[in-house]
Amino acid sequence: MTETTTSLENTPLPDKEGRFGEYGGSYVPEQLQAVLDEITQSYENIKNDPSFLEELAALNQHFTGRPSPVFHCKNLSEKVGGADIYLKREDLNHTGAHKINHCLGEALLAKRMGKKKLIAETGAGQHGVALATAATLVGLECDIYMGVVDIKKEHPNVVRMKILGATVVPVKRGTQTLKDAVDAAFEAYLEDPVSQLYAIGSVVGPHPFPMMVRDFQQIVGIEAREQFQAMTGKLPDNLVACVGGGSNAMGLFSAFLNDKDVSIYGVEPSGRGFKDGDHAATLTLGKPGVLHGFSSYLLQDDNGDPLPVYSVASGLDYPGVGPQHSLLKDLGRVNYVTASDDEAINAFFELSRTDGIIPAIESAHAMAYAVKLAKEAGKGKTILVNLSGRGDKDIDFVIENYGKDFGI
Ligand SMILES: *Cc1c(COP(=O)(O)O)cnc(C)c1O
Repeated sequence: MTETTTSLENTPLPDKEGRFGEYGGSYVPEQLQAVLDEITQSYENIKNDPSFLEELAALNQHFTGRPSPVFHCKNLSEKVGGADIYLKREDLNHTGAHKINHCLGEALLAKRMGKKKLIAETGAGQHGVALATAATLVGLECDIYMGVVDIKKEHPNVVRMKILGATVVPVKRGTQTLKDAVDAAFEAYLEDPVSQLYAIGSVVGPHPFPMMVRDFQQIVGIEAREQFQAMTGKLPDNLVACVGGGSNAMGLFSAFLNDKDVSIYGVEPSGRGFKDGDHAATLTLGKPGVLHGFSSYLLQDDNGDPLPVYSVASGLDYPGVGPQHSLLKDLGRVNYVTASDDEAINAFFELSRTDGIIPAIESAHAMAYAVKLAKEAGKGKTILVNLSGRGDKDIDFVIENYGKDFGI
């Protein structure tokens, strides 16, 4: 029998300064550091508090609908003719993706710290919707900072946030997209760090966010490990997840890091190609640097300024990546690979038409690599994919831009 590695205590990183090896840490003004220290302290106090864990577990079960199932994708596996592909169905969560897992945790933490308001940035609006949902549920106000370009592009999610009672704050500076929204949200946070909590959208940002968001996402891996063993009697041979900031990937990977026989793949978007500005393959093509208060691999120019990034999946479109992924890359524990726009769109239609599951375009990147890997690994092997979200949010965009190629 393999030992279980499912408790939070079995993942000893980061250290007290929030470092994962040389990555992570906290590069922020003194005033903000004092606030972050307070969040770290509160989190350390509640993370083993049975009443907090029970409250979160009850919401996970009765509100989100956890545990999400593991599904054996028989039709796709047969069609590919190689390894058997299994999906961890995070797309079935309330609000349609894995993000609700850490939003509920962050909202409960804010409530216990006596905060009045949650604030955050959002790109495509997925994090904004999940956070607005969690804020309403626990009784907090919610301000979501969003670039004007994204507000125009992501109309349904903007409306969702407003219906849920959140305030959407338009960000008009810079390129008016995700990076500018993060900058604006940080500034708003500094203006009133006492009554607000910044609930970051992935395993990025200064300590304690990469640790905290990972801990709240670990439920994905903990459940999947048990479910997969119950279904097959073994651990999966391979794990695959898409990597934007890296939260759904860390959630799945964390429970298997000590299982040396499990190969792990993080899939980054290679977009339109490998030229600067055409992709967001941070670990594949970046170099260590500092952005948004933490150190990690970063797509940057010669002055250390972030490069423009692009992917068909807005949720993967970020020039940085969670610091623990940078360490896992250097250690060689996780293989970071890529899938292009076209490969992801093909996988989007393939999974829809073999097994009746429309994946988020982000998750379709993981599917695209899983299909490739299934052919290489061959029959008798297994692949567990984190299906991080559902594709309802993407259908209009996909049909407008790719429908013809797929007979629609
Ligand atoms: C936001 C999002 C992602 C990317 O975020 P990670 O932090 O890398 O997990 C992936 N899939 C879906 C469905 C998303 O909404």
